[in-house]
Amino acid sequence: MATLINCPHCGRRTTDEFYIKGDASKVRPTAVGDGTMDQWHDYVHIRDNVRGRVTEYWHHTGGCRQWLVVERDSMTHEVYGVTPAQKWKPAGTKAAAPAVKAAARKAPAKKAGGKR
Ligand SMILES: [Zn+2]
Repeated sequence: MATLINCPHCGRRTTDEFYIKGDASKVRPTAVGDGTMDQWHDYVHIRDNVRGRVTEYWHHTGGCRQWLVVERDSMTHEVYGVTPAQKWKPAGTKAAAPAVKAAARKAPAKKAGGKR
């Protein structure tokens, strides 16, 4: 494992300040509802065990508490780059943070009249 990560916010820090949180190359499905369960299942549960270059979400738990995307080699642990997660754009996507359609995320409508 690489011993130092160059956090864009904190500078060079040891890896024991970070937690690896998973594959950052997965593209989040944009649709919700019936007929999308297979897409969501694959997104949430299916992981490749890549030998070589990987992109992963890392959380700087012992520092700035920001989410990062670290590109590294899973065999040699060479680090190729560190990007703030909000600026990360997985291959095959147009937006930095793919969003679920806004209508699907809305909270249920409150009844008219509310509290009295
Ligand atoms: Zn940091």
